[in-house]
Amino acid sequence: MTDTRVDVAGVQVATEHYIGGRRVGSPDTFEDRSPLDWSWKLADIARGDADAAAAAVGAAVEAFPSWAALTVEERAAHLHRLADAIEERIEDLAQVECADMGMLLESLRKRVIARGAANFRNYADLAVEHDERVWASKGTENRVVRMPAGPAVIITPWNAPWLLSTWKLAPALAAGNPVILKPAEWSPLSASLLGDLADAAGLPPGVLNIVQGIGEEVGAALVNDPRVARISFTGSPEAARHIGQAAGRNIVPFTAELGGKGPLIVFEDADLDAAAEKAAGQFDDGGQVCLAGTRLLVHESLRHDFLERFHRHVDAEVLGDSRDPATTISPLIHPEHLARVDGFVQRARDAGDRVVRGGQAAEVDGSRDGLWYEPTLIEPASNDAEVVQQEVFGPVLTFQTFRSEDEAVALANSTAYGLSGIVYTTSRERAERVGRAVRAGTVWVNTFLVRDLTAPFGGCGISGIGREGGHYALEFHADLKTLQILEDSTT
Ligand code: NAD
Repeated sequence: MTDTRVDVAGVQVATEHYIGGRRVGSPDTFEDRSPLDWSWKLADIARGDADAAAAAVGAAVEAFPSWAALTVEERAAHLHRLADAIEERIEDLAQVECADMGMLLESLRKRVIARGAANFRNYADLAVEHDERVWASKGTENRVVRMPAGPAVIITPWNAPWLLSTWKLAPALAAGNPVILKPAEWSPLSASLLGDLADAAGLPPGVLNIVQGIGEEVGAALVNDPRVARISFTGSPEAARHIGQAAGRNIVPFTAELGGKGPLIVFEDADLDAAAEKAAGQFDDGGQVCLAGTRLLVHESLRHDFLERFHRHVDAEVLGDSRDPATTISPLIHPEHLARVDGFVQRARDAGDRVVRGGQAAEVDGSRDGLWYEPTLIEPASNDAEVVQQEVFGPVLTFQTFRSEDEAVALANSTAYGLSGIVYTTSRERAERVGRAVRAGTVWVNTFLVRDLTAPFGGCGISGIGREGGHYALEFHADLKTLQILEDSTT
């Protein structure tokens, strides 16, 4: 056993996999750098290969019978201990996630890290409350029994590593499935700390395994392993297509939470300032948010008033170091991602779309060499524009106007995505009508990102397959059985 650690913002972080309760290396490594300062090398991380994948699945297979045999209450107690361990290390986790992903430190400290603990507590409680359905029919007693399915592979993207890994781990573990977590290669560190938290919480070895590495390498090896019983993926539609093929070959259920291109619709009866402020808020986290309302659809009578307010709110945003409490917009994750975002903007210019504001790497502390991108607004030449139809995943919004409610809904539903939507109106009837008509997994009216952890979460179209959240995720991680006993045949 090896356990190589590096100091990241004062926190010791393991650079190796966590398999069967031990730190295990791989022959190769990959480099992890900080988006806050690209010259800041954080770590050389174990680059998982087929051997690492096989070992992690093997550890989960071994742990499965005893984890599945625990009562729901016993597993829930483990999850609460994991949540306790998280709550003791909020500052460490916030520092590491900030350095690794670039998310604002204050928001990590105050909200995001604690939400990870809440994910475990929520699923501990939900699993205990989740009754078996029992009913009588055709002279039999019927009962729906949930059987833990087996080892689950969980694959997460780089943009909200802590939130998403805890959100996906909690239901799998609560349902009785040991897990192999494969975090994204651009932000692998908070997941690594989960191994230490599992040790601190006394989780049995092999119940939580963490394998680091590249998606097309170790990620592909994991999803192709026939011993895996569930695959829960969050990331891009491109990767989902590969993973879905592996799931299909092995006949394994999989959920896919994918990209978004959400509309933010502002009707003529809206609270205009609230809507404009929320629109400007779509640049938070550098716009690297799958749920963001990136297509501003505004009633044509409001064009001038809305834009005036929107620009005022955007002018008040502060691009800077995510550790500075004054900063409101963080850098992008990686130079390659910055180039990708800029590529969308340059192609939009070339295609005749109008760049209304922004449109280049931002100057921060007198330099454009960092990974910040100017909050950008584009008025497209048509609804077919690439920048309207494709997810940019950066601080780039489009602006279009509509004349009627029908036109607003048609524009909202005109992309291949369907993850989320935001509607601003003061009419209750319109809120219901448009809320139902927008084709998306979540629609917020006059608010954004407020989430009840028991609500279903997922996307339509190329935004995903399946639903997570609440008992939906518990059902996904179980094999359901109908147990029928002839009435009066047993005592
Ligand atoms: P990505 O698809 O490139 O990578 C996601 C994860 O999949 C990474 O861990 C990667 O290593 C792994 N991966 C890639 N190819 C793989 C393969 N062939 N087999 C197995 N694993 C593979 O996505 P990304 O760039 O990390 O994340 C951004 C995307 O994630 C955006 O589209 C964003 O909208 C989406 N996202 C969706 C949600 C949601 O809940 N719907 C949340 C956050 C992010």
